[in-house]
Amino acid sequence: MTGEQVYSLGSKDRPLQVAIVGSGPAGFYAADALLRQKDLTVQIDLYDRLPTPYGLVRFGVAPDHPKIKAVIRVYERIAASRHLRFFGNVKVGSNLSVQELRKHYDQIVYAVGCETDRRLGIPGEDLQGSHTATEFVAWYNSHPDYIERSFDLSHKCAAVVGVGNVAMDVTRILSKDQDELVHTDIAGYALEALRKGQVEEVVILARRGPKQAAFSLNEIKEIGSLKGVDLVVDPKEMELDEASKASGGKQGRQKVEYLTEKSKAGEGSQRRKVRLRFCVSPVEILGENGRVTAVKIEKNELYPDETGDIRSRGTGQYEVLPVGLVFRSIGYQGVPLPGVPFDEKRGVICNQEGRVTDSVSGQIVPNEYAVGWAKRGPTGLIGTNKSDSAATVEKMLEDIEGKSAKVDLEKRPEAVDRMLAGKKLQVVTFEDWKLLDQQEVEAGKRLGKLREKLLTVSAMLKVIEERQ
Ligand code: NAP
Repeated sequence: MTGEQVYSLGSKDRPLQVAIVGSGPAGFYAADALLRQKDLTVQIDLYDRLPTPYGLVRFGVAPDHPKIKAVIRVYERIAASRHLRFFGNVKVGSNLSVQELRKHYDQIVYAVGCETDRRLGIPGEDLQGSHTATEFVAWYNSHPDYIERSFDLSHKCAAVVGVGNVAMDVTRILSKDQDELVHTDIAGYALEALRKGQVEEVVILARRGPKQAAFSLNEIKEIGSLKGVDLVVDPKEMELDEASKASGGKQGRQKVEYLTEKSKAGEGSQRRKVRLRFCVSPVEILGENGRVTAVKIEKNELYPDETGDIRSRGTGQYEVLPVGLVFRSIGYQGVPLPGVPFDEKRGVICNQEGRVTDSVSGQIVPNEYAVGWAKRGPTGLIGTNKSDSAATVEKMLEDIEGKSAKVDLEKRPEAVDRMLAGKKLQVVTFEDWKLLDQQEVEAGKRLGKLREKLLTVSAMLKVIEERQ
């Protein structure tokens, strides 16, 4: 091969060199969709800022939902391809710039998810004891950035704002009998804090009605069948307005049926309660000495907007709920990646069907793509990312169709290796991760748990060094 000869891009002589940034479900599904192409020779480098892969499957999925995590087996198969390399512990945007990626890859896929939370924008949001759901979730899942957080669980009553599935996870972990968490991969310190905790009542606040609730039927049923817990719903709040009656599909109807039945049971007799409130919005988090003491809520009414969507608006009737803790679970929010156009309003990478676009002109930024939550916002289940990533990969393939390229020495795996070596980073390969995986599973076995996660990046790097 000479430097002058041109080959078709994505052929054996000139493989397509792709960087995927983020090794959560969206990143893995993008890799999978590329690797499955029969007429494409591709070399993929999958980057993650942490030494561990799988993103929210590891740090988001609740510890008592191990079946959801079984999807990891699929990702392991994808990672086994000789056309994919994992580079953990490399933070794109600081260790490695997007400009450097552009130099070494034909195409870049951003699969960076949504790292933070939306804000409520009400007074008292930052009082001590008011937390985001993401913080709490990352804490009980041993995310290295969150292990130092502390949650004062000595209060009897907590409020959870929002009724998505994350709110359900938070409510379940707060309310569940801790003996049922012992064998999971929950962080040991979190289990201990929950055991010592006093939370007996969790009030979940939905701004709209039961028909519009974002949780899945299974998730609310799981709350409704927790041992030692009553799910309490006020029958008055189950009365549907005309627009709600006419709206919604099968799931919506089933959720209303289920909750209507529950509402007939009244207060119940269990010590622990999960109280589900509909058509209420927090308007202020109240506190004393900088600490949460209550949440002030406003009763809402529902109305259909011009598109037919059912929205809520305040009625001017207020109520104060004494609570010592507030978890804001109103959706995740993307954070900008330096050098990549970002839509501040939507909290996603600017893109058109996955092709990154300039934030000002709206023009397509060649060779750069977005998948998953970074592309469409924080919605959908893990599986949603499969078709979403495949759709972006289709655009990537359209963009190289008929293209030829010279053999470019900078766009070869060895050049990437050289560049990373020059940065003196402690890059974690997939084989290294397997060592960590093994260590965690073994440590878990000794404790009678599915896995005992390593807590810090330095501990992970040490294990790799020792086990190699
Ligand atoms: P989500 O499903 O979008 O739910 C967000 C909730 O916050 C909704 O109830 C929303 O109400 C409410 N909300 C938004 N802004 C609000 C405000 N200003 N005041 C009061 N409430 C507000 O988000 P999520 O729970 O973070 O979940 C993200 C995605 O991950 C979802 O697709 C979810 O299904 C998925 N997930 C799945 C599982 C599972 O399958 N087990 C577990 C966790 C997460 P409105 O509806 O009125 O906007």
